[in-house]
Amino acid sequence: MTLTRQILVAMLLAVVLGSVAQYVLALPVLPGFLRYLLQDILGEGLVVIGGQIFLASLKLLVVPLVFVSLVCGVCQVDDAGSLGRMSLKTLVLYLATTALAISLALFLGAIWQPGTGVKMQMDGAYAPPEPMPLRDVLIDIFPVNPVAAMAEGNMLQVIVFALLIGVAISRSGEAGQRLGQHFRDWDSVLMRLVGMLMKVAPYGVFCLMYSLFARQGLGTVNDLLLYMLTVTAALAVQGFVVYPLLLQFLARLPPLPFLRKIRPVQLFAFSTATSTATIPLTLDAVENRLGVDNRVASFVIPLGATVNMDGTAIMQGVATVFIAQAYGLPLDMDDYLMVVLTATMASIGTAGVPGVGLITLAMVLQQVNLPVEGIALIIGVDRLLDMMRTAINVTGDAVVAVIVARSEQALDLALYSKSHTDF
Ligand code: ASP
Repeated sequence: MTLTRQILVAMLLAVVLGSVAQYVLALPVLPGFLRYLLQDILGEGLVVIGGQIFLASLKLLVVPLVFVSLVCGVCQVDDAGSLGRMSLKTLVLYLATTALAISLALFLGAIWQPGTGVKMQMDGAYAPPEPMPLRDVLIDIFPVNPVAAMAEGNMLQVIVFALLIGVAISRSGEAGQRLGQHFRDWDSVLMRLVGMLMKVAPYGVFCLMYSLFARQGLGTVNDLLLYMLTVTAALAVQGFVVYPLLLQFLARLPPLPFLRKIRPVQLFAFSTATSTATIPLTLDAVENRLGVDNRVASFVIPLGATVNMDGTAIMQGVATVFIAQAYGLPLDMDDYLMVVLTATMASIGTAGVPGVGLITLAMVLQQVNLPVEGIALIIGVDRLLDMMRTAINVTGDAVVAVIVARSEQALDLALYSKSHTDF
């Protein structure tokens, strides 16, 4: 069985067994020993431990892998011009794909009207945490202390530090060559570790999904069904129409190999709802299966996992329309443009960890004078949507990596089209 299939089977099993466990645990008459077995030993014990250890082992790789891989990538670039060109292309594509994603979300939200007729029932007052002002976000990109940046897992600061070291290595003659080789060795070793962890991914995914379903299920749906459908449809169009079209027309590449090879990464992002923890797998898939050269992938992927969140932007677009409709506050064209702008900013400011997109949504709502408490309306169903949008977030990063690599002659076409390269 291919890895994709193994992960899918693990997910299905986890959903079924987890839901059964949740149902059984909710029964009023349940023998004590059964509760102990299901809840303490299995649910809260073995499975949670397994899932968390798996997630931790991937997260532990993120900082060293991003740092080492990016240093390797940058020190191979011999002219500063090409580095600048690549960064510019990446940023433009990231902004454009995100703006496209929100526009799509707003369009569907305006047509399907998911919030019209929703009876507003607040689950208590919701006070969102203050998002960081944009100015501070920009200043914060530059590290004062690289060790602290690594210890805190501050990806943008790690990226800036790695870029600087990489450039310095490439200009340091013989000493630079020795150190560069050293980094390349580290890179191979870390990539090997990613491969080893992928082998146990189905078990890890099983544990993560089982605990989710056994503990909380996916929340109540009722009134929010149309909201969920709208978000899902926009995510699907982005993933299965917009991205393939971009690959076809911007990169002149057949989209099918891409869609097939990115699937395990999507499944992993789906089950963990964090694009940051998915970085090692995205990097592995993009470099070793899609044929993107390390000097492009090592820059584009970690940066994307931190700032490029097309799926999150889609949720924020639909959520804004939904809340406006639920409160009966119509949005005009000016508001829509404002949402495109602020949701692009908000998705850049969203960290690649579960649930943050909902916090930065407050920024968008405030800009168009909608009640921030409206977030309480959708919080109940956010987990499932978070999983789906994270899968799209990582796909968007990989698409941009392929397009940039293609335009920089840094794509191994034979590897891209090679049919079977499962993990
Ligand atoms: N969970 C998302 C991610 O990691 C961020 C979000 O939208 O909450 O990509």
